[in-house]
Amino acid sequence: MTACKHENFAAAVRVARLEDSGRFMAEIRISCTACGAPFQFLGLEPGLDLQGARVSIDGLEANIAIAPEGTQPSPLQRMVHGVQGFDA
Ligand SMILES: [Zn+2]
Repeated sequence: MTACKHENFAAAVRVARLEDSGRFMAEIRISCTACGAPFQFLGLEPGLDLQGARVSIDGLEANIAIAPEGTQPSPLQRMVHGVQGFDA
């Protein structure tokens, strides 16, 4: 038996609406479909950030803040209008 080279993947994305804040989070998990090994997200701090990206304490679920288009300034709009976005 040889080690799996991890060549095919399953990605699961769940979108959660946070009832208390009305904000949205994308919860992402990725695994190898051949051996089932879950993949760990790198370079993210653990916890929850309603304006950014964090990872679960086991590293296996990325939690990324999302918003409907037009309700938060895009990177381009921030570039053009400054950090305040729409209000600048
Ligand atoms: Zn594999």
